[in-house]
Amino acid sequence: MAIESSPFEKLQQAAKPPAERIVDTAPQGSEDGELSLRPKRLSEYIGQNKMKEQLSISLTAAKMRGEALDHLLLHGPPGLGKTSLAHVIALEMGANLRATSGPAIERPGDLVAILSNLEDGAVLFIDEIHRLNRLAEEFLYPAMEDFEMDMTIGQGPSARTVKIPLAKFTLIGATTRPGLLTNPLRDRFGIVQGFEFYEEADLTQILIRSADILGVGIDERGAGELASRSRGTPRIANRLLKRARDYAQVKANGIISHEVADAALKMMEVDRVGLDSLDRLYLTTLIDRFDGGPTGAETMAATLRLERDTIEDVLEPFLMMAGFLQRTPRGRTATRRAYEHLGRRIPKSRSSDTQPGLLELES
Ligand code: ADP
Repeated sequence: MAIESSPFEKLQQAAKPPAERIVDTAPQGSEDGELSLRPKRLSEYIGQNKMKEQLSISLTAAKMRGEALDHLLLHGPPGLGKTSLAHVIALEMGANLRATSGPAIERPGDLVAILSNLEDGAVLFIDEIHRLNRLAEEFLYPAMEDFEMDMTIGQGPSARTVKIPLAKFTLIGATTRPGLLTNPLRDRFGIVQGFEFYEEADLTQILIRSADILGVGIDERGAGELASRSRGTPRIANRLLKRARDYAQVKANGIISHEVADAALKMMEVDRVGLDSLDRLYLTTLIDRFDGGPTGAETMAATLRLERDTIEDVLEPFLMMAGFLQRTPRGRTATRRAYEHLGRRIPKSRSSDTQPGLLELES
């Protein structure tokens, strides 16, 4: 006899695995190598105005002095434009960019090969710099500070350390987890900049620019609709745009209007505030199974059958940013907004739950 699934199990079966989500913040398929949508100059780089203004002053001053730009640390959630900004900076400085990542550098020897091939003024971009191993990190210190490498020559008692001079380069480090960087590494960056999620108006501009590059018709309201459902993230906005383009070609006249954008997103199960089936499963679980919390991350992970890291790094940041979730010292709590959005009755005890400041004290 077939056993009927419970409503919770049905939701769980319908939710996409984290890596297949249309709203995933990591690059999917060919997106990683796709450079055409990346802004090339600072003037094409939309949003992040405060950061752009400060960087443009530092860039101009470095150019006037004929020096390399100070080492720069960029931090913020995935998909907000850290890699793109590194490329823009190199181009604005008229410099070559060499890109690598923390996990790709296994030994100090890998760094020797990279550093000794840099020319004066070059930009070295290290993505996920928080994943650099300790030995490689320590090897970087003199390279960043004095533009030299300490090399050991010979073995045993006759071994000696020599200093090998390096070109004056700029290191641009990018990280989604600035808290995991050691202090000595962080202190060696002259400029540290944090990324903000994008405003809807900026995402609309990014979408109009991307649509132009891709040669797809979109009107202002169509772009606005995609923007409002892109979770403040350009990578997601561009992905939704490509899927809406397919929809417009097959089901409409090829132009992404407000109606076309809305229908395409409904089909992808992205709701009007950008939540997908996995976000809704998370909030429904918290509200229906745990009375809205507080619930610990481990309990949520076990109930949803997900890794704790996935919960903390992938699901929760956006839910918190959008005001659906609070992390308190006692666990996760659904906010009033989450109850309202899912059409649940708000219990009396929840009516005064949005105290600012609780986020700081996360468990
Ligand atoms: P990150 O390195 O932070 O993960 P990326 O630099 O790879 O993010 O950006 C993801 C995509 O989003 C890029 O390919 C680019 O098309 C787009 N993008 C990011 N920031 C901007 C921006 N400020 N203006 C226009 N497009 C952007």
